[in-house]
Amino acid sequence: MTRILVVEDEAHLAEGLTFNLEAEGYVVDVADDGETALERLATGHDVAAVVLDVMLPGISGFDVVASLREKGEFVPVLMLTARSRPEDVLRGFEAGADDYLPKPFELAILQARLRGLLRRREWSRGEPASQKPILPIEVNGRTIDFEELELRAGDQVTRLTTMEADLLRFLVEREGSVVSRKVILTDLWGLREDTDTRAIDNFIVRLRRYLEDVPSRPKHLVTVRGVGYKFVASDGRGSEA
Ligand code: CA
Repeated sequence: MTRILVVEDEAHLAEGLTFNLEAEGYVVDVADDGETALERLATGHDVAAVVLDVMLPGISGFDVVASLREKGEFVPVLMLTARSRPEDVLRGFEAGADDYLPKPFELAILQARLRGLLRRREWSRGEPASQKPILPIEVNGRTIDFEELELRAGDQVTRLTTMEADLLRFLVEREGSVVSRKVILTDLWGLREDTDTRAIDNFIVRLRRYLEDVPSRPKHLVTVRGVGYKFVASDGRGSEA
């Protein structure tokens, strides 16, 4: 039994989602505001994923996901955003959402995204993966485990959000190459290229805190002025200037 919590104040939309998700075999709970959702998630760990609208009465979807992450609750969150507000997507990622879907959306796409999030969760529990595993990598004495969504340094473990892990992996796979902010927006996150890029910079700041010895003088997540970022695996004594 896979339980999904739908957080949506628009009754017709909540009902439509419930109907369709139940038809897919999920058990669905609905919360019509953020406070109710947080209470529901605090009382048990039986929810496999959350479909979370940004626009809610009272606290917003951003506040809900940020509050969950602060409490160390990493249930997968699919955020529903307004199509006209791409900056909301980035705010959602910063708050700790795992994926997003602009409204209005097609149900088939929502279901596919949800399956993707649930599959991730299975990986992180060590259950058999249906896709090729992504091997952990070592950077600067840290182990980045993209499947467990963890960064390990000695006995210290940092939990990565899906978005943080995906951005890091995107850069790692392009090691040594400059990756522009535009490419991160369009190719990784599916956003329009004129979206505000400050959120990317905020993500990088966060990733540097995890990876770098001196985050203000990065050696691995390097800024390429006016363009974007470059991942450097070694510590800069090789061909790097
Ligand atoms: Ca709403």
